Amino acid sequence: MTCLICGTPYQSTPTWSKLFLNQLDSSTCTRCFEKFDISDSTIDFTDFLRTPYEGTVDSVFCLYTYNEPMKEFLHQYKFLQDVALAKVFAGKLQQAFQTREGIIVPIPMHPEKLELRTFAQVDELLNAAQVSYQQLLVKTKSKTQGKKTKKERLKTTNLFESMSNIEETNYILFDDIYTTGATIHHAAKILKDSGAKRVDAITLIKG
Ligand SMILES: [Zn+2]
Repeated sequence: MTCLICGTPYQSTPTWSKLFLNQLDSSTCTRCFEKFDISDSTIDFTDFLRTPYEGTVDSVFCLYTYNEPMKEFLHQYKFLQDVALAKVFAGKLQQAFQTREGIIVPIPMHPEKLELRTFAQVDELLNAAQVSYQQLLVKTKSKTQGKKTKKERLKTTNLFESMSNIEETNYILFDDIYTTGATIHHAAKILKDSGAKRVDAITLIKG
């Protein structure tokens, strides 16, 4: 096989989880894959003092840190639109979702941005991981809010709308990167306001 990242041929090693748990292969050589820095950290918000804007998501689980190889990966995947790279984290994501229960909802892109980026990067990560999900949210705002402070960003009207009925059950949001948390909190707030019992989130990277 050829490594998706460095392009050199490699031998896929049969591991216990690949054989018995049917874990998906990362399609990368060990050397490239080991450069990603595993975070596996959970940010728990259930004990946070709830304000109308923060603490709407119950927990966020982040798989990796934002190190240099991850930065390069994101650049290649998102901006150079190398959709094949969605496979790199398939096994890790598959595993993360297997151990959690809830309806999986990817964070959507604004339609204008989707056109620009050619494919839905967040959805493709889930497709590669063979994780089934429901698209329940639409992004209503496209403007980047870079110049606003975190408080201002959280205060602005919600970035999302829900498209269909939200059940009184558990939901798991999925996004590529968790930075200020504004995106995840907005999405969780919409789900909770519409009746969701609990909303957790998984992101590939902790920014
Ligand atoms: Zn490689």
